[in-house]
Amino acid sequence: MSKFSLRNMAGAMWAATSLANAVCGSAVELAARLSPDAKVYGPNDSNFASVTARWSTYSAPGFAFSVEVATEQDVAETVKFANENNTPYLAVNNGHGAIITVGKMQEGIQIHMRGLNSVKIADDGKTADFGGGILAKEVIDGLWAKNKQTVTGNCHCVSLAGPGLGGGHGMLQGRHGLISDNFVSLKLVTADGTITKVDKDHELWWAMQGAGHNFGIVTSITSKIYDTNRPLWAYASFIFTGDKVEELYTNINEKLLKDGNQEVDIINYSYFTMDPTVDPVNPVIMFFILQENAVLVDEKFTAPFTALGPATSAAGAGDYRDLSVWTGNAENQTFCQKLGFAAMRYPVELQVYNVPAMRETYDTFTAGLQSTPALGFSVVLFEGYSTQGVHAVPAPSTAYPFRESNLLVSPVMLFQEDTPELAETANALGTQLREIIHKASGEPNLRVYVNYALGNEGPEAWYGAEQWRQDKLKTLKSKYDPEGKFSFFAPIA
Ligand SMILES: Cc1cc2nc3c(=O)[nH]c(=O)nc-3n(C[C@H](O)[C@H](O)[C@H](O)COP(=O)(O)OP(=O)(O)OC[C@H]3O[C@@H](n4cnc5c(N)ncnc54)[C@H](O)[C@@H]3O)c2cc1C
Repeated sequence: MSKFSLRNMAGAMWAATSLANAVCGSAVELAARLSPDAKVYGPNDSNFASVTARWSTYSAPGFAFSVEVATEQDVAETVKFANENNTPYLAVNNGHGAIITVGKMQEGIQIHMRGLNSVKIADDGKTADFGGGILAKEVIDGLWAKNKQTVTGNCHCVSLAGPGLGGGHGMLQGRHGLISDNFVSLKLVTADGTITKVDKDHELWWAMQGAGHNFGIVTSITSKIYDTNRPLWAYASFIFTGDKVEELYTNINEKLLKDGNQEVDIINYSYFTMDPTVDPVNPVIMFFILQENAVLVDEKFTAPFTALGPATSAAGAGDYRDLSVWTGNAENQTFCQKLGFAAMRYPVELQVYNVPAMRETYDTFTAGLQSTPALGFSVVLFEGYSTQGVHAVPAPSTAYPFRESNLLVSPVMLFQEDTPELAETANALGTQLREIIHKASGEPNLRVYVNYALGNEGPEAWYGAEQWRQDKLKTLKSKYDPEGKFSFFAPIA
């Protein structure tokens, strides 16, 4: 009882309805079952808004209270408690998941995992144990201090488990594969509240590497780690005006992507964005080439782009930790923040840029922003990581379905006044942009990276259209989560 704050008890006064009273009573009861460092925050607690804040306000989940777990047993106990009380629950690290399916969770329990953020490197230096609520920045810094690294997402504020359970793209994937390809074992709280170790011998292993959000709550991850024997990175960045779309993406295809043969130490990354200092009326194209083990990006890569006549260009060098900073994803930079924006993403996997479609995408995006200035913060993101480590893993061996793809493209509609009309306009534009890109790709099936999904695409788009993949996932789901306790994030069924 002591762990549920007095402020929350006072909050029960606010709880004029019987529902709210019941919720407050439940929170007190749950708090009594948790470890001494766990906390339960209710809506009237001053911390509640910050612990439940989301990166995107659109179709956000709603929580009756938030459990700040301190041990894996707290997670198990909360799951059991919620099951006993027929209350839904959702694991949350930093609330950067922006799929609209999580909005179906209302009046549930947030199981806030941030207390589980430890890093423990094994004596042999080949693996490390990470807490299930750890963020990318904590992984990077914790390992770097010991001259180690592993695959993480590029955004400091995104967790390891969130991306990893859906695959997990990152700057080191060309060397070491996806985040999930580096998993050695996971501790998992399953739907009945038991704690299970899942490793390569467990039936769920395949599913946890690509569709893992559907099967439980990960309390810790044992992952491969690597010596930082190529610590240096360099960047070359360019801003191009819209008239350069064709030449830019032709160059990226021919000089960098090379039909899926981009060098392992090269990453290309671009986005359409408004930058009034360069063009006050039309979006510009921000373009990066990142090179590992270099202090200056090799001129053979930069020269074709310099020759196009960028509006501005810059270059610099640092180490792996600087990649997030250069691309605007560091903890104090814009992409990381919870600024009260609604975000709607429309991802599609590609092999190569279709240049006429890139022109159509740019023109459609431009017209969309000009007719609806409230969408002016939106971007269209084009991520071209190196892929050797991802391609090296046999495709059928994990639930991650799109190993063959080379590019991750994502129109991201961003807006602040979250009104139904604006959301409808944003959805129309985002859908149109994705259709242009997908149609031009010639791919019969829409391939959607589950961690970027809008949420209306469906299991075949998220987990692969092959019947055997769908059947296997459904069989596992009905065995391990028959009541759909973990069906708020991109549900299999
Ligand atoms: C700014 C930004 C940058 C991004 N950069 C990258 C990137 O570089 N690479 C990449 O691959 N993706 C990236 N993403 C996408 C990212 O993978 C997803 O948004 C992901 O859902 C975020 O996970 P989270 O834990 O941070 O968010 P949360 O909202 O806390 O969690 C997302 C979902 O994961 C599940 N979940 C969370 N914790 C656990 C757990 N411990 N056990 C089981 N299930 C759990 C829940 O269903 C939850 O709804 C980025 C997203 C944003 C917004």
